[in-house]
Amino acid sequence: MMASYSPLRLLILVVLLFECWAVSTARSFDFYYFVQQWPGSYCGTRRGCCYPRTGKPASEFSIHGLWPNYKTGKWPQFCNPSDEFDFSQISDLVGELNSHWGSLSCPSSNGHKFWSHEWEKHGTCSLNLEQHEYFNKALALRSKIDLLGALKSAGIKPDGGDYSVSDIKEAIRNAIGEEVGVDCNVSEDGEYQLNEIYVCIDKSDASTVIKCPVYPHSKCPSTVKFPLFGDEEEDSTSSHQNTGSDEL
Ligand code: AMP
Repeated sequence: MMASYSPLRLLILVVLLFECWAVSTARSFDFYYFVQQWPGSYCGTRRGCCYPRTGKPASEFSIHGLWPNYKTGKWPQFCNPSDEFDFSQISDLVGELNSHWGSLSCPSSNGHKFWSHEWEKHGTCSLNLEQHEYFNKALALRSKIDLLGALKSAGIKPDGGDYSVSDIKEAIRNAIGEEVGVDCNVSEDGEYQLNEIYVCIDKSDASTVIKCPVYPHSKCPSTVKFPLFGDEEEDSTSSHQNTGSDEL
């Protein structure tokens, strides 16, 4: 005998099915982008930056995030609003996070807002990674993928000089074995500069570098500046600080 459903029960069934579909598609991503940024470029825009409360970061690439992505170029985000950032779960990582994943937005901060944003927007979309594992995996990737070392060994240095984007990509490909995505921003003087490097990572272990299924849209022209961010610069935060407040 056929079961009969009232229109209301049918509607509830359809809504439930849709929610199951939405949750499952949000969680079945294809790969991660591991994104590192050059602090000299983050700071060297008209917006400026504020150094973390722990002090001026080292002249090294630092982590922006570990982002689940689809091979279509789209990505899931904010997948589980109930899984809020909880600093107590990663407090043992705070030294490494301050050194390698510091917040540069203004006003100067302890980084919790930045880490919270990255966890809630991207980390909650990872497959089965708990907060501690998510941050730990990203920190491990940073120590494995030495972008500055790769660039320096090809003679590409953060000295304010102009470098070809294809040379930058080749230097990193020689070091890590795969092509990366490169993104640029615009300096206070209106010049394009090397801003972020995207490395593709296997979703199954969040640690193996893979060939990118898709590259991010890039604003880079063929040649870009690689700005200073080191002891060569004066060591005052004031010239980097803007007067406003960024969102993170
Ligand atoms: P996402 O939403 O993960 O794609 O990251 C973009 C946001 O991260 C923007 O609001 C940026 O201003 C912010 N952001 C990027 N790098 C940093 C950084 N080093 N410190 C603080 N905020 C950052």
